[in-house]
Amino acid sequence: MKIVYQAITDVGRKRKGNEDSLFVNPEQNLFVVADGMGGHAAGEVASKVAVESINEFVCLTAGDEEITWPFGLDQDMSYDGNRLKTAVRFANRKVLEAMKERSEYEGMATTVAAVLVDGEEANLAHVGDSRVYLFRESELSQLTSDHSWVNEQLQSGVISADQARAHPLRNVVTRALGGKADLQVDMQLHKLKPGDLLLLCSDGLTTMVPDEEIQRVMREGAGDVQKLAQGLVAEANARGGEDNITVLLIQFQE
Ligand code: CA
Repeated sequence: MKIVYQAITDVGRKRKGNEDSLFVNPEQNLFVVADGMGGHAAGEVASKVAVESINEFVCLTAGDEEITWPFGLDQDMSYDGNRLKTAVRFANRKVLEAMKERSEYEGMATTVAAVLVDGEEANLAHVGDSRVYLFRESELSQLTSDHSWVNEQLQSGVISADQARAHPLRNVVTRALGGKADLQVDMQLHKLKPGDLLLLCSDGLTTMVPDEEIQRVMREGAGDVQKLAQGLVAEANARGGEDNITVLLIQFQE
């Protein structure tokens, strides 16, 4: 399948800096969004270290060279699944190392949503509240489940979806790179069809724009990924743009 993609990161309307990072490696079909947290520009550092480290490991394992797998191999997962999962855990280690080097980086962390495509299969990895959506036959579905305090409360029925959206603690993530050394990474494998669109995004999109509205924008503009990416960012800004907005669209064509 042919892949067309478009990626935009935007500071939004309220923040001074952009702590989100984007990374695309078209040769490896690797797509990554990371949303950093931490004061004194440390969030920016965390997300940048994460995306670059993920790419580094994916490139390292692209050839036939024998390499050492730092966390072993998972026999239940494909080679590419192992590459991506290990890349995220490797990136976690790099973020933790960077933190030890400079005191102002202490406490920095980052989310990750990453996709590695091999033919008709997409491997997904995620940690935190950056999301991956699938837009197929005009229907939008959220593939990832946020590692956030609010989502955990929602899943266990303590709060409603409406309460979750406006909750003062909606930015609190329960899992991120830069936390524990032994990071748990959620993995998924999806079989793609021609016409499918994957959307990777930071919460600067999803806290501003409800899913129904994302779906509406995608229905109207799915033919042109460049315009569509711009449309999604514009929608988040029109609704307040309170956080950095990152949108990465991957379209699969026959
Ligand atoms: Ca954010």
